[in-house]
Amino acid sequence: MKPHPSKYSGLTTFLTHYTEGENAENAHLPPIYQNSVFTFNDTESGAAIAGGEAPGYYYSRLNNPNHQQLARKLAALEAWDLIRQDPGADPDTLAGGLVFSSGMAAVTGAILASVQAGETMLTQAALYDGTYLFLKNLAPKYGINVVWVADPSIKSWEKALAENPDARLVYIETPVNPTMRLTDIQGVAALAQAQCARVAVDNTFATPYCQRPFTLGADIVLHSTTKYLSGHGQVLGGAALTTDLNLLKNELYQAYKLLGATPSPIDTWMTNIGLKTFKLRMERHCRNALRIAKRLESHPSVERVYYPGLVSHPDYDLARVQMTDFGGMIAFELKGGLEAGQRMMNNVRIATLAVSLGNVDTLIQHPASMTHRNTPREQRLAAGITDGLVRLSVGIEEPEDLVKDLFEAIG
Ligand code: PLP
Repeated sequence: MKPHPSKYSGLTTFLTHYTEGENAENAHLPPIYQNSVFTFNDTESGAAIAGGEAPGYYYSRLNNPNHQQLARKLAALEAWDLIRQDPGADPDTLAGGLVFSSGMAAVTGAILASVQAGETMLTQAALYDGTYLFLKNLAPKYGINVVWVADPSIKSWEKALAENPDARLVYIETPVNPTMRLTDIQGVAALAQAQCARVAVDNTFATPYCQRPFTLGADIVLHSTTKYLSGHGQVLGGAALTTDLNLLKNELYQAYKLLGATPSPIDTWMTNIGLKTFKLRMERHCRNALRIAKRLESHPSVERVYYPGLVSHPDYDLARVQMTDFGGMIAFELKGGLEAGQRMMNNVRIATLAVSLGNVDTLIQHPASMTHRNTPREQRLAAGITDGLVRLSVGIEEPEDLVKDLFEAIG
């Protein structure tokens, strides 16, 4: 039997061994359960599995061994500090989760599981475009009252929470896509929980390598596993993880089951394989990004670089407290604005012009015309997403090759 995960001295042993080898055939890598249904020995055992009184699988939209393995590993990864603080505990009793067909499915499923018609939730004005559009256009249609907090400072959150004492959910994304501003998770969680509101954090940009929202008091952690967790741009996926096992078993599972945004078994299998190298990749993403951010900051044609690991970042002090490293995402503006940015993006030869992020190879994109094109311009500008902002997802290539590519493209 594998050791309890609290016995591992670091994340790489955990990621390569936790939940692995738990299959009847002793396959070294988990089999792919590419089937829609599971068979029953008799009607009584079928009924017990369907009713949740006996362990087992039933129908792949509801559960599948590949989904369960990935969800357990991701939940334990986010709860890594809690597992180490409580080494006697079964990790499945500290946190659990569900994996979805995309990050958006996890985000919308978790929101719909946490708030209902007539209830209020609070969120920040700057968000990933898909989440913003869901909260702006769809959530109000179902009677959810969304309150937007324009300024990310803790004072603004304090005021917004005081004005909305019945708020049921606080939804945070930090660092935010694409401006890289931060929200104080611990500060907001303490305020929210004092008035019984749940806190959900989209941890896609930071990943549990750099930031662990459960340790800071969050109740729900969301991911687009499309990004760093799978790591190679090979799948779409999402995860909703929580320390609130009642929420998981009831409202979250209900939303999952009925919205039907289930991933395919092979996608969850591939994400699990990607996770084995997660820590190694993240170390390199972070190291490369810091180096490139510093080099870009010193370039005469660069107006401004936004990276939480730079002293010049407006939230640098918070980043040092809340994050253990600063991630692989950088945003920057060139002195020539939009035109200079477009010229540069058309001239790169190693970085690839594409949306998404978190791949082993470097991706570059223009939020105003790509990922955030549906956010109204005034809203975009108010959130700091200027017309000339360029977003870089720094890969794991040799850093000097990337610096050379970017500098030559800037010209
Ligand atoms: N959250 C963040 C911060 C994102 O950047 C994205 C996608 O870019 C999502 C959620 C949505 O993820 P997906 O594209 O997997 O649905």
